[in-house]
Amino acid sequence: MSKVILNHGAGGELMQEFLSKHITNHFPSMNAEVPLDSMDDSAVVDDVVFTIDGHTVKPLFFPGGDIGKISVAGTVNDISVMGASPLALACSVIMEEGLDIDVVDRVMDSMGKTAAECGVPIATGDTKVVEGGAVDQMVMSTSAIGKRSQYLDSDLAKAAEYRKVENRWCTDSSVRPGDAIIVSGYMGDHGIALLSFREGYGFESEVQSDVAPLNKMIAEGLKAGGIVAMKDPTRGGLANTLNEWCSKSHVGMEIDYSSIPLRDGVVNACDLLGIDALSIGNEGKCVMGVVPEMAEEVLKAIRRTPEGKDAAIIGRAVEGTEHVVLRTEVGGRRILEAPAGDPVPRIC
Ligand code: MG
Repeated sequence: MSKVILNHGAGGELMQEFLSKHITNHFPSMNAEVPLDSMDDSAVVDDVVFTIDGHTVKPLFFPGGDIGKISVAGTVNDISVMGASPLALACSVIMEEGLDIDVVDRVMDSMGKTAAECGVPIATGDTKVVEGGAVDQMVMSTSAIGKRSQYLDSDLAKAAEYRKVENRWCTDSSVRPGDAIIVSGYMGDHGIALLSFREGYGFESEVQSDVAPLNKMIAEGLKAGGIVAMKDPTRGGLANTLNEWCSKSHVGMEIDYSSIPLRDGVVNACDLLGIDALSIGNEGKCVMGVVPEMAEEVLKAIRRTPEGKDAAIIGRAVEGTEHVVLRTEVGGRRILEAPAGDPVPRIC
């Protein structure tokens, strides 16, 4: 009998296949503007934006963050990248018997501070305790609802000045040939900081997790106008995000490798460990598809925020293929595939 493996939860192609064959196929189809089938960051049901995220990060505390901060930031980001404003969070915490109560206080304090920072209250929740060994210390599930951002209509109207805009939300299927691709900062920091800290590689002195709520940065981008798609490149990293956009939007991508913000510590760690920095999960970054005429304006707007200060335009969507083509520093071209699974498990 086949068994669940770690890569079934790793955000890559194996997980997509697992979800469609063993999870979502059992559910009744739904009639919604952004339904489950679209596999976006959030669903949109009767103009309510709705998401949930599970957190199994190991260890609970790591350089730059902890499970409490990730649980709030990750959920707020999944709502925000749809072009929505998060209204409230719900959290379920499952704790292992024997866990230090001091650990619980530290995690909840961090959750509370992050919720205050992004201005989204934790409105409801649940706690359970299970016998020792039934979970590893603590796992959390965090859900949120959001409503249409007050800036989304003007954002899409700005895009519509330059080309036809079919979607009412910033979905994975909204990218069109010619759109500029922006990343909001350095790629791979979270996964490398966590892996390095957990395994004792020592790169965490140079690289810290980027975990951060992005709702304020995204609001500034929407105010500038012309953003048509957004996604937080978590599990599977930038490679997964761009490939998902290609297959759901039926476009190709041309990406300039040298334009992608990558820290030396991340590049060195990836070289040493034989993993691809572009397949590593981030927790405080956003990828944006923007009509080309507004790309510089959006870039300027998000660079004025602390979370977007290192943002860059890394390439554009093109017609005629559904592949991501990476132009390398030495003038070569290679296809950037979606990772089969995350090279770094249990980072979120
Ligand atoms: Mg997401």
